[in-house]
Amino acid sequence: MNTTASANLFSRLFDKLDDPARLAIEMFDGTRISYADLIARAGQMANVLVARGVKPGDRVAAQTEKSVPALVLYLATVRSGAVYLPLNTAYTLNELEYFITDAEPSLVVCDPSKAEGIGVIAAKVNARVETLDANGKGTLTDAAARADASFATVARASDDLAAILYTSGTTGRSKGAMLTHDNLASNSLSLVDYWRFTRDDVLIHALPIYHTHGLFVASNVTLFARASMIFLPKLDPELIIKLMARSTVLMGVPTFYTRLLQSPALTKDSTRHMRLFISGSAPLLADTHREWSARTGFAILERYGMTETNMNTSNPYDGDRVPGAVGLPLPGVSVRVTDPETAKELARDTIGMIEVKGPNVFKGYWRMPEKTKAEFRDDGFFITGDLGKIDDKGYVHILGRGKDLVISGGFNVYPKEIESEIDAMPGVIESAVIGVPHADFGEGVTAVVVCNKGADISEASVLQALDGRLAKFKMPKRVFVVDELPRNAMGKVQKNILRDTYAKIYAK
Ligand code: AMP
Repeated sequence: MNTTASANLFSRLFDKLDDPARLAIEMFDGTRISYADLIARAGQMANVLVARGVKPGDRVAAQTEKSVPALVLYLATVRSGAVYLPLNTAYTLNELEYFITDAEPSLVVCDPSKAEGIGVIAAKVNARVETLDANGKGTLTDAAARADASFATVARASDDLAAILYTSGTTGRSKGAMLTHDNLASNSLSLVDYWRFTRDDVLIHALPIYHTHGLFVASNVTLFARASMIFLPKLDPELIIKLMARSTVLMGVPTFYTRLLQSPALTKDSTRHMRLFISGSAPLLADTHREWSARTGFAILERYGMTETNMNTSNPYDGDRVPGAVGLPLPGVSVRVTDPETAKELARDTIGMIEVKGPNVFKGYWRMPEKTKAEFRDDGFFITGDLGKIDDKGYVHILGRGKDLVISGGFNVYPKEIESEIDAMPGVIESAVIGVPHADFGEGVTAVVVCNKGADISEASVLQALDGRLAKFKMPKRVFVVDELPRNAMGKVQKNILRDTYAKIYAK
């Protein structure tokens, strides 16, 4: 493999910069950072990393709040040839112990309030600790401010690691997905084209930067396009609507769109300056898609990806953006649907396991060769764990995670099918269908439903509405009406929590 500085993602991001004074990031507090500033700051921080003993191939773990220095730390790590390992800010010391001892970073960067606890864990793997707080202040930025801005980007091969992102794994241990320089660069470049990003774009960036969505899709795509982004610490619907007057693109998880729809300020007029709304990381309800179109005139563009694969499919820029579908395979990405038992490719419109192959697909799980082998087919396709189908127009539809499949009385029940039926009832906002241990059926189909305030929805009315529309074996055995579904920071419904909550309802 050819090792050059130009294969380094950092070089690919910033080489041939013809207008260094161009704005790259604007902070919510008004601070403006140009491309030249960003590169200089990455140089200073890369010098600090090297001074702290970080060598090419070493891991740099970061549990930091979103700030420009936190993004600079990612860029500096990649620039110095090391491997960036972002950690969800919600992780507790107990959880961090697993990630840090598994990844064995040589440096851990964290909030000053956690430095003591993390210090004890870091010492076990001889890692140093530096601090960075929510305002971008700490020992790391203090040292960077004194460092030289020039830094020769370290040569890397295109399949050397740029980052390790631990999967959110709700079952078993979280796994470190190893992403190469080329995985990240190729996917972002493809998205720049597919979504027609140009230097005139202004992205509203309100996603966390410890996850593939905010870190790679949002940040890398913006930087590759020489566009700019407005960095917000979190979802603030009213502020986002105000910013739309001078922005062009919003990337969000579905919760962004449902929350924005709750504001009367969201109108055709307030979105007039925008050109694109993108959703991903969790299923966007077809209703939300339709409501958004009616209110703003824009069809949300839904795409599908995962930590291990970057982005796989996207609804088209021109052409039909189909509500409830995640679109077509991106250029260079192959998607197929197979029988989970036999691995044989299935015909169009048949539900099975979604598998993907392409330059976007990760190199394997960190220090888990067996697990890696088990999740790749011999011909290089990665078994995503998502169940879905490809329709006759080639659009991919996701029907849920394989582990969420309910097997009741020996029959497969796809939660999405039942959820769609329930969601179509007037007064219902959304629903989640889970399998719960059942003495007779193995698993009992169980529905958890959220409805509009004042809607007359009960277990009996849901069952009555489903009667005759679903085969008997798919009918929920119980229906629970709740105020809201448990969700993680990326807007995913946490079905594992629901399964725990209702674990005993069919106990004899
Ligand atoms: P993560 O690795 O945290 O990004 O989660 C990836 C998983 O999120 C995928 O395997 C899917 O199950 C789910 N996901 C991502 N995008 C979508 C989407 N547009 N619709 C439905 N599920 C999605």
